[in-house]
Amino acid sequence: MPHRVLVPFGGNAAPAHWLGKNHLGGKGANLAEMAATGLPVPPGFIIPTPLCSQYYEAGGQLPSALVEALPEGLAHIEAAVGGRFGDAANPLLVSVRSGARVSMPGMMDTVLNLGLNRDTVEGLARRSGNRRFAFDSFRRFIQMYADVVLGLDHYLFEDALELMKDDRGVHLDTALSADDMEALVGQYLAIVEEALGRPFPMDPLEQLQGAIGAVFGSWRSERATVYRRLNHIPEDWGTAVTVQAMVFGNMGEDSATGVAFTRDPATGERAIYGEFLVNAQGEDVVAGIRTPQYLTKSARERAGAAGVSMEEAMPGVFAELASLFALLERHYRDMQDIEFTVQEGRLWLLQTRTGKRTGKAALRIACEMVDEGLIGETEAVQRVDPAVLDQLLHPTLDPAAPREVIASGLPASPGAASGAIVLDSQEAERRAALGEAVILVRAETSPEDIAGMHAARGILTARGGMTSHAAVVARGMGRPCVSGAGTIRIDAAERLVHTGRHTLSEGAIITIDGTTGQVMLGEIPTVEPELSGHFATLMEWADRHRRMKVRANAETPADCRVARQFGAEGIGLARTEHMFFDPGRIVLVRRMILAQEPAERAAALAQLLPLQRADFLEIFNEMAGLPVTIRLLDPPLHEFLPQREQDYQELAEASGLSVATLRRRAEELREMNPMLGHRGCRLGVTSPDIYGMQARAIFEAALAARTPPFPEIMIPLVATRRELDLMKTVVDAAAEEVFGAAGRRLDYLVGTMIELPRAALRAGEIAATAEFFSFGTNDLTQTTLGISRDDSAHFLAAYLEQGIYPRDPFVTLDVDGVGELVELAARRGRETRPLLKLGICGEHGGDPASIAFVEGLGLDYVSCSPWRVPIARLAAAQAALARAA
Ligand code: ADP
Ligand code: MG
Ligand code: MG
Repeated sequence: MPHRVLVPFGGNAAPAHWLGKNHLGGKGANLAEMAATGLPVPPGFIIPTPLCSQYYEAGGQLPSALVEALPEGLAHIEAAVGGRFGDAANPLLVSVRSGARVSMPGMMDTVLNLGLNRDTVEGLARRSGNRRFAFDSFRRFIQMYADVVLGLDHYLFEDALELMKDDRGVHLDTALSADDMEALVGQYLAIVEEALGRPFPMDPLEQLQGAIGAVFGSWRSERATVYRRLNHIPEDWGTAVTVQAMVFGNMGEDSATGVAFTRDPATGERAIYGEFLVNAQGEDVVAGIRTPQYLTKSARERAGAAGVSMEEAMPGVFAELASLFALLERHYRDMQDIEFTVQEGRLWLLQTRTGKRTGKAALRIACEMVDEGLIGETEAVQRVDPAVLDQLLHPTLDPAAPREVIASGLPASPGAASGAIVLDSQEAERRAALGEAVILVRAETSPEDIAGMHAARGILTARGGMTSHAAVVARGMGRPCVSGAGTIRIDAAERLVHTGRHTLSEGAIITIDGTTGQVMLGEIPTVEPELSGHFATLMEWADRHRRMKVRANAETPADCRVARQFGAEGIGLARTEHMFFDPGRIVLVRRMILAQEPAERAAALAQLLPLQRADFLEIFNEMAGLPVTIRLLDPPLHEFLPQREQDYQELAEASGLSVATLRRRAEELREMNPMLGHRGCRLGVTSPDIYGMQARAIFEAALAARTPPFPEIMIPLVATRRELDLMKTVVDAAAEEVFGAAGRRLDYLVGTMIELPRAALRAGEIAATAEFFSFGTNDLTQTTLGISRDDSAHFLAAYLEQGIYPRDPFVTLDVDGVGELVELAARRGRETRPLLKLGICGEHGGDPASIAFVEGLGLDYVSCSPWRVPIARLAAAQAALARAA
């Protein structure tokens, strides 16, 4: 019956939860389900989500079918609880509650105690024999209704309440008498009339319609809109509205209200966790009007709190609550977040939903629920959001430690780190070599800062977005990073860092939290990640259900070690240029680049050869026979050019060329648009000897490795088959020479990165030469969208806000555009070469949504930064399970 405008629950209503959360909203569906299960839930009715859209289509009017149906809905509640809506002798009061498909905690509005007016409040007082309670409820209702429906400022009412308390010399509103409450009601009504120019609406039906409209309206409130955008919740879902009989936690000492989790949401411990307040209503607990008390005796004792726990104060009700929690967990088979109220000793449930939890708790709960037989292993694997692993793999700030935040920026790379401020890469390396913990603070970083970033415990930049150089490199290295902290100013000459209120000199200690984007003064204690226990268990389960392999992007022995520790099954991308930036080699690299004569270049290359060989040998030994994809030199040459006068001097000495000559050569190499310039295989085409040297170094190292490795040599930025043919000839020639001289051979593959649209389109013919494809989705995104990764920060936010792209295309693969190219290239490549090995090695290789997409294409592996390997393992397992389902 999709056209029903009201769906009753509780009392003698038929079960309705089968209509689902999309229709009833999460809160409504769970209330209906609890009611149908026979749990103590106040009866009510749900106005389904489509009515919210109708409300907006009608320009903010309640649909007439709904208005006509309201008496019928109220009659259902009246029949179930006794009492009548608007009846002066025995009034029914209701709450009007929001509730979308997915919970948006605190984002939308609720009105309690609706139906009160001058007449019904007297009836409530008489029937309850509790005049104070009746007027307390009325004043709460006036304030909430005025705030939510009439748009008045709640401070007006809170001020009046404070004045009253001062007047009576009391601190708590529970200490106010019935007469005080009655006086407050009079004041509140006057406040409304004064502000509005008309009296407070006393007609209960008018109140109800007003509240329903306001709850619909709160779907588009500023905060709800922002929350939806951050959580990718579609605008057109709308909210359902629940109208429900009130139960009262404010009827005296045997009444209370509270919130609880069935397990500890911070640690996952299997223990009831929560708070309650005696003689209070709904939102008092969260609003912080009084300090809530603990639910359990043990939690109270652990916290050393004074207030008596619910377990001690109301042992009977607590025992009932505890047994309902167990029942709800068994029913929903997940940790629940529950709202309850106790009215004169009787327990009522007002909400249950799957509880939000930390990453640590998510792991523990998933594993323990398997042990308890509540869920199966595959369900546990599917339950844990891979993104939360990020919190677990890095040190985090000790939540109990005090902190002074002095600046904030973007949470560019997770984890927390403390150290001395250093303002340049050399200083970072120097101090780190002496064992000092340092934080590299730069306006922005460039490839030249790599060594300093590696030496630092964390990176802080004043400029740059989530995909800036600093952010991408820091994530790759597993270094915490806060980028784009706009209030920071760096005075390089005086070697000072200015923040809004502070001036810090180089060497001052700061702490950065790359998970929140905060920068703090001094050293704040951190907590180390825990990689055994539940984490290890869940990863083991995940691996059993994973189809794709997971590799890492790594080129230093340290990163390779981290990668293996996190379960990488090979290297998907070793970038050789990072080795070229090593301070001990950069002079050689520069000589090679700026050489004028072939002989000069050959001399520089001959000196680089043993160094590269040693690099590769370390990687091969570290990876012990696992496949290693090595990408030959890729970046624009100008990135290696000398920057400072001192660089030119050093180079002149080493090469015997004059500074003037070197400067002229460097000038010749400058490019307007280096990302589309002389880079990638174009370097190999114009200087085959560079790739020849690299290939030779790879094969010599491979023969020397402890375990025979499996090298996969990758040619970057190929657009045509001919480029790849030429480069493969160079690589194969080096192999023949090395193998011939050694009298021993090794298997290897030559393949290419697919990172230009033309390569994707011509994948069929490129695969005739290429033995593997690795999708370089960073560049492929850049070249397909025509958006520069480094320059997009200024407009990308506006693009996301206006829904032009649903997600940052450099974080989550643009499935419609770039994804189609990937799909097409995979298909055409396999048509030519059925066993073509296919992988992805961009930032997307560690992004769960992108991993799910490439699982669908049947790629063989994903490759991501070492720190994201566990995330990729879990995401790949989930993608495989989802595909199988
Ligand atoms: P939110 O989504 O912001 O939590 P709710 O609709 O759950 O909003 O309600 C806010 C508070 O009012 C909660 O503490 C809830 O338990 C309480 N509440 C809602 N409806 C009733 C009711 N019928 N009787 C008593 N308390 C209620
Ligand atoms: Mg709630
Ligand atoms: Mg590239």
